[in-house]
Amino acid sequence: MKERARSPLTDRFYRKLLDSLYEGVYFVDRDRTIRYWNDAASQMTGYRRGEVLGKHCWDNVLMHANSRGDSLCADQCLLEGAMEQGRTIEGQVFLRHRDGHHVPVLVRTTPMLDERGKVVGAVQIFSENTSTADLGRKVRELERMALLDPLTKLGNRRYGEMILSGKLTELKRYGWPFGVLFMDIDKFKAVNDTYGHDTGDRVLRLAAATIRNGLRSSDVVVRWGGEEFVAIVASVDEEKLLHVGEKIRILVERSSMTLGNETRNVTISIGATLARKRDSAASIIKRADALMYQSKKKGRNRLSM
Ligand code: GH3
Ligand code: MG
Ligand code: MG
Repeated sequence: MKERARSPLTDRFYRKLLDSLYEGVYFVDRDRTIRYWNDAASQMTGYRRGEVLGKHCWDNVLMHANSRGDSLCADQCLLEGAMEQGRTIEGQVFLRHRDGHHVPVLVRTTPMLDERGKVVGAVQIFSENTSTADLGRKVRELERMALLDPLTKLGNRRYGEMILSGKLTELKRYGWPFGVLFMDIDKFKAVNDTYGHDTGDRVLRLAAATIRNGLRSSDVVVRWGGEEFVAIVASVDEEKLLHVGEKIRILVERSSMTLGNETRNVTISIGATLARKRDSAASIIKRADALMYQSKKKGRNRLSM
């Protein structure tokens, strides 16, 4: 018996179809109340369906603006324009994301007519204006790259210098203390020589993550150079700095990695020092580095202060 093909074209089907688009789609009725909002619209604007349905398009929601940031809502509303002129309007505008930033979009606004040709509302379809969006993304990417160490995903030396100089200003102005831990992986060259550079990189990432996890969120750790890390530890005296440094040393010592068919431990030597009011970023690092070198001389996997 032949099964009768059922039409899938139900209301639910169309909703699903609209939700599968990459373009944001929404519909407003004649008085510009939002009646429909698809998934991509939520994605691109940060507003969930429940937050916008029933609101007017000018209700502090999208705030369409031109490239100078002037609002189009009052007298240049695209939805109103399309409904009044009875034609599709296209353009490049900015939408305001729920988080406050502006999203460049290409919009297409079309009046919707009922069977008798009466305008009952308008539908707006928008997609990310990639040329502008790409540019913004590239700038952010460059900013990130300039301060981020790609291997360990920690800040790099430049970032560390920036943080140090900020902390020094705070110390001089308000007396807020901080300390520095200079850390260098022990016998790291042997890891590279024995297991290869890629394994060396894995060890670096492991050490970076272990150090990062051993610090509070108010502290900063950066990759200072090859296998050297610098932590800037906020609000500490000597005793607390020693405690934090020892904790990290032990955490690294206890983290292990399977390399080939053996398990290797990684250790670090640390130099720890409190910042002084007369310090510069360079003088703190120099002192911490010299202390780290003492730890190496004394047999490694230790902290000198
Ligand atoms: P010590 O205990 O005295 O610190 O010995 P060490 O072998 O760690 O010191 P040394 O400074 O001689 O060697 C550091 C090595 O770190 C040399 C270099 O090849 C390696 N290195 C630096 N940057 C990277 C990197 O990004 N990846 C890898 N795999 N190795 C790196
Ligand atoms: Mg070194
Ligand atoms: Mg080393």
